[in-house]
Amino acid sequence: SSFTEFGLHPDILKAIELSGYTKPTPIQARAIGPVMDGLDVMGAAQTGTGKTAAFTLPVLHRMMPFASTSTSPAKHPVRALILTPTRELADQVAENVKRYSEISPLRASVVYGGVDINPQKAELRRGCEILIATPGRLLDHLEQKTVSLNQVSVLVLDEADRMLDMGFMPDLERILKQLPAQRQSLLFSATFSPEIRQLGRTFLKDPVEISV
Ligand code: AMP
Repeated sequence: SSFTEFGLHPDILKAIELSGYTKPTPIQARAIGPVMDGLDVMGAAQTGTGKTAAFTLPVLHRMMPFASTSTSPAKHPVRALILTPTRELADQVAENVKRYSEISPLRASVVYGGVDINPQKAELRRGCEILIATPGRLLDHLEQKTVSLNQVSVLVLDEADRMLDMGFMPDLERILKQLPAQRQSLLFSATFSPEIRQLGRTFLKDPVEISV
């Protein structure tokens, strides 16, 4: 199979080509179509399988109609929220998102704890369609009203098993309360444990299940 079969936006196909990817990995082959179609997806995949691109590429495709060259922050509300358990993973995902969206006017920002919050506040005030965050620091920003999630239409929980292991469930619940109920939700995890299935039942609607 080939990346051209999905009908991805030309700017994203160009980014795939620039990344040197010639064919989709198994998780990409199975997840890109359903995510582009707006379906909820529960994916079991380890790091190294190409899972980051499996959700990033179709999520960026869905964000393309919202791309704006306006400098007004109001024109750049957060529309896709990607939550990760650690700052290292947040940085990695952000690096992917920024690379794949480099030639579009879509804006992406990343926030996580353990570093000064003020530069993050300044960046969030400018606006971004795609926000990558760890749960604790995102809650700090929500409390300080530097960001709003009321326009989010896509939520991604990456490495959800690690988020649960690290005790982020209460934080996740508080964050998810601030998201519109009408949205697309994606959950990726190394395995489908009973706890992950429970999380899926709580936050996803009739998810397409993919295991690789
Ligand atoms: P991940 O599983 O998301 O951590 O990705 C593992 C590595 O595979 C990363 O370095 C990606 O840049 C790379 N990668 C992702 N998709 C593809 C692809 N379709 N072809 C070749 N490499 C890829």
